[in-house]
Amino acid sequence: AGEGILRRQAQRESAARTYARSLPIVPVRARGLTIEGAEGRRYLDCLSGAGTLALGHNHPVVLEAIRKVLDSGAPLHVLDLATPVKDAFTTELFATLPGELAADARIQFCGPAGTDAVEAALKLVRTATGRHDVLSFTGAYHGMTAGALDVSGGATGVRATARLPYPYDYRCPFGVGGERGAELAARWTEHVLDDPKSGVPAPAGMILEPVQGEGGVIPAPDGWLRRMRALTRDRSIPLIADEVQTGVGRTGAFWAVEHSGVVPDVMVLSKAIGGSLPLAVVVYRSALDAWEPGAHAGTFRGNQLAMAAGAATLAFVRENGLAERAGLLGARMLARLQGLAAAHPCVGDVRGRGLMIGVELVDPEGTGPGDHVPPPDPELAAAVRRACLDRGLIVELGGRHNAVVRLLPPLTLTDEQAAAVLDRFADALAAAEK
Ligand code: PMP
Repeated sequence: AGEGILRRQAQRESAARTYARSLPIVPVRARGLTIEGAEGRRYLDCLSGAGTLALGHNHPVVLEAIRKVLDSGAPLHVLDLATPVKDAFTTELFATLPGELAADARIQFCGPAGTDAVEAALKLVRTATGRHDVLSFTGAYHGMTAGALDVSGGATGVRATARLPYPYDYRCPFGVGGERGAELAARWTEHVLDDPKSGVPAPAGMILEPVQGEGGVIPAPDGWLRRMRALTRDRSIPLIADEVQTGVGRTGAFWAVEHSGVVPDVMVLSKAIGGSLPLAVVVYRSALDAWEPGAHAGTFRGNQLAMAAGAATLAFVRENGLAERAGLLGARMLARLQGLAAAHPCVGDVRGRGLMIGVELVDPEGTGPGDHVPPPDPELAAAVRRACLDRGLIVELGGRHNAVVRLLPPLTLTDEQAAAVLDRFADALAAAEK
């Protein structure tokens, strides 16, 4: 049955089919870290719905929250009306926000995807400031709709309009890396903001990911984030943090901006906040709420099941200290991966924050003009992903050159599961390297 489904869908679906190409499996059941395919094979899922499944697949508290709504007779479709489910979700979400924002936050329900919330955030800062340009960073990924693409980098493979340098320690745009690289990146941004001929003298906002995900799992240094906060604050430019992928504990703090103490003016949230169902919101300081009634609308902004699943997820992460746990476990996994890097010259870099981990694969023999590190090896990365799948491990690729293997396991990952994931990964790496 699985083979037939794969064949039929490959014929029927658009040429833009993505995950279905690299993961030729037909999931029929799932629980926690594990997905079971139609052929009965089990896989450890370190893609987690592109970072959505903070509690893994079908967590009991999520299923229970969804069942409760279904059994209550509550309407499932209510546009953006106020409901008890929405009230509970908003209360739970606001309780998690960085202090300064929580005290003064407004929420705009968007939907249903992360990219919709990015569009809303761009529109919000444009309305509030009366300006247009939004500053964004090389390698950024904010979604696939037109406005989101405008602030994304080349990682989308569609077009690259993001212009400011994101500090990338390993493949540093200034060829120096470390604190010096981040310092130069910050200065470049300052220069663009203050140079009247730069073309963006008065931007409507700045949007950034605290850890670039699709761009190759690149954590921004805390100091650089604080610089971006200071220079946007000094110039009255709203700062938008896209926490679609980094949020809900994944990086070791409930929101990734907390590591640096930075409080953005706008936060874009999706993925894990819906507890595996589609939900996206923008949260922002009330001073930015310049919208007229109806200025932002949309039919699917009241997904009751997603709000219930999301509220249960947020509460579970908070009550069980899963952010802290992700930080500790992620650090241990990074340490083991760094050991692998020492033994395999094809591992150029291992990095991440919490359970958002990237392994950048390189051709150690190769050289490129002016390269200070070996060139990326996307073929090897694809081979490692295939070898992982052969060993029952689902991973994803990302990065500027698609040469970064990304691990986004659920925050409920146990020590034993983490060890199993890394065993399989190490085995796959050794096999693919040959
Ligand atoms: N922003 C970030 C940081 C993301 O990682 C993603 C999705 N990978 C998006 C926005 C877009 O979200 P969606 O795919 O739900 O539109």
